[in-house]
Amino acid sequence: MPTGYVHHPLFFWHDTGTSAGLLPADPLAGIQPGAHVEAAEAKRRAHELIHACGLLRDLVVIEPREATMTELLRVHTGDYVQHVKNQSDRGGGDAGDGFSPVGRGSYAIARLAAGGLVELVTAVAEGEVTNGYALLRPPGHHATADTGMGFCVFNSIAVAARHAQTELGLTRIAIVDIDAHHGNGTQSIFYTDPTVLTVSLHQADCFPPDSGWTRENGAGDGSGYALNVPLPAGTGHAGYLHTMHQVVLPALDRFRPDLILVAAGFDASVWDPMARQVLTADSYRAMTRLLVDAADRLCHGRLVAAHEGGYNPWYTPFCIRAFIEELRGGAATPDPYEAAVARYAAAPLLPHQREVIDEAAQLIERIHPAN
Ligand SMILES: [Zn+2]
Repeated sequence: MPTGYVHHPLFFWHDTGTSAGLLPADPLAGIQPGAHVEAAEAKRRAHELIHACGLLRDLVVIEPREATMTELLRVHTGDYVQHVKNQSDRGGGDAGDGFSPVGRGSYAIARLAAGGLVELVTAVAEGEVTNGYALLRPPGHHATADTGMGFCVFNSIAVAARHAQTELGLTRIAIVDIDAHHGNGTQSIFYTDPTVLTVSLHQADCFPPDSGWTRENGAGDGSGYALNVPLPAGTGHAGYLHTMHQVVLPALDRFRPDLILVAAGFDASVWDPMARQVLTADSYRAMTRLLVDAADRLCHGRLVAAHEGGYNPWYTPFCIRAFIEELRGGAATPDPYEAAVARYAAAPLLPHQREVIDEAAQLIERIHPAN
């Protein structure tokens, strides 16, 4: 069965404003007008690459629609949803932390992103496609129930998870977050819920600050169902693959999900401006292969990926293409930067990385083995 793909021009039109990286432009304070780091460019180039190289022909394009209020309110508070609408209607503002810009119309676009993921999960559940990728914008994994954060507006992956449970009969959901930053919003939404396992691989103490430590392991009924692997800065292919084999795959095998959702961030790639990890396109390919195999083994191949971070406009597209090619299966297109990334790809697993991964691996036994 084929692979689904969600995209829409409005995702590229989410307007993060005239900025200099993170901050709004402020000429008199010396902040020269330019582009916000969470700009459309990396995502637009990824979509154009997928089209130009012919991969799009192999995918089933699924048209997004806006998430309904019922779908949003399974995850977010009414006050927060109204806040985003107000900011959007008045022509722009921020979704919460001062680093989550909202432009005119961004409320509708963020609803379209969440609804697009709901449609993709539905297509997977109904067997129209086996798995799929949603090239969403704005991103979602930092957004909590009641605030936007770190460029994120609505937590699309959490909305999709709740939809799968409520409407599609997929009760056990595993969310694997490979973005370079901690999936704090997703973790917080499901922190006391043993039906949703969250596993986040990220750079230690990067964003949000002081978040995503191994000791954050779920609470109440959800104790043991939040896993974090705070990898040291500089971790690359060997460290991430070791994490997959020691933590992610054993956790999935123990939990036995009905659906695997992946928060697919590509800002752990070697040239990304927002983190200090050194993954290559082939690293993403290898991790995706393992996740696809796990989905085949555990849940009839049901795997749905939502795009999160990834800010390098000239390298991120090749990481995304590698990811989607592995979802589809079949031929792998070589990374045109292969020679340039070779020394990062070959970097060994270092003892201080192994230590963190082994510590996280010890927590897997807190997950009750599913029948
Ligand atoms: Zn990120």
